[in-house]
Amino acid sequence: MLKKRTDILDKNIFYEAAKKYGTPLYFYDLNEIKRRIKLVEDTLKGLNFKIFFAMKANSNPYLLKFIHSYGIGADTVSVNEYKMAQFAGFLPDEIVVNGNGKSMSDISFYARENPLCVNVDSYEEIEKIGSLPMHIALRINPNVDPKTHPHISTGLRENKFGMDFETAKTVIKSLPANLNLVGLHCHIGSQITEIEPFIEAFSSLKSFVREERLDLEFINVGGGWGIDYTDKGEGINLARYENEALQILSSFDLPIYFELGRFIIGSAGYLITEVTEIKSTPHKNFVIVDASMADLIRPALYDAHHEIEFLSGKSEMIADVAGRICESGDVFAHGKKIKAPEIGEIGLIHDVGAYGYSMSSNYNLSTRPAEVAFNGDDLILIRRRENFEDLLRFIEEEQSS
Ligand SMILES: *Cc1c(COP(=O)(O)O)cnc(C)c1O
Repeated sequence: MLKKRTDILDKNIFYEAAKKYGTPLYFYDLNEIKRRIKLVEDTLKGLNFKIFFAMKANSNPYLLKFIHSYGIGADTVSVNEYKMAQFAGFLPDEIVVNGNGKSMSDISFYARENPLCVNVDSYEEIEKIGSLPMHIALRINPNVDPKTHPHISTGLRENKFGMDFETAKTVIKSLPANLNLVGLHCHIGSQITEIEPFIEAFSSLKSFVREERLDLEFINVGGGWGIDYTDKGEGINLARYENEALQILSSFDLPIYFELGRFIIGSAGYLITEVTEIKSTPHKNFVIVDASMADLIRPALYDAHHEIEFLSGKSEMIADVAGRICESGDVFAHGKKIKAPEIGEIGLIHDVGAYGYSMSSNYNLSTRPAEVAFNGDDLILIRRRENFEDLLRFIEEEQSS
């Protein structure tokens, strides 16, 4: 199994970061990102492939530039993500566009920008595009159960994404001349740890391409590679992926595109937090920390598990680790055995590089944390902490007087 980098990092760096930049603080280990990219490339070696980083997992421009420097493209799901990719230096032919329900103004923006490919989500979207020129792929919904959390399954027929094979056939038959069909796209979900759903999806794409005798430039198989949030080896089995999934992918005889988010950046991120209160009730213990669901919503939203570690403390205790938001769901861990921390002690929430900061909010008028990157030698502030003035940015003077 994959060894976690936490064991390699000197814990003092987290104290140093907390002292210098305050808490809560997002911390990214750049060497871990580099290692994960290498791992993907090693797994896919022999295949003709290109990787796109799914920006919705993390859109910090410093990290985007870092990832781009390894020859990776950007997968965007909104016009603003597209603009952020450009800000970080990605060129249009390194960007793919996803998303359902694109507006008319989104569509004209993409038609002007001319990205590598726009993944069309529906028959209705083709009608919306009308006579605008575009390189497109059709997003196929293959009706495959990815066996992940229902909120992050995307390739079942009851999910809102993509089109079934019959609809794709109709679209292809009536494709107007302004649209250049360059590929098929399929993304069946996120945090997938089993290989069978991928095989099932790729096989059905393969049959479709063969039966319809499609002449394409690439197949885009999306992302979804699961990571090990538990430290028990529960991530995607790369050896099985290599042995079983690559075979089908090679048989397309086309470049295969991957849109990976979580797998590249998830394990590189830590949320550094400080203990603000230790509350004992007759019923249980609560360790309250200064991070909350406003900073990291995955536990509240998906019941997601994140390892939490307090860096020192002698005795052990069983406690719920909770934030300070006025919601009972603002709990990072239930009944967890931890080193009994003291007030002011630093805690690390693991594997928050993906869908952490990018899903943060101002709920309870929380101000978003700062973000730092660590390159093995230096800490680099890559986004400052929000403050109260930032919360007033959008308020007109007249409204306040
Ligand atoms: C979210 C998303 C991805 C990335 O998913 P991960 O699980 O983070 O790899 C890729 N493609 C599309 C279309 C997505 O919506």
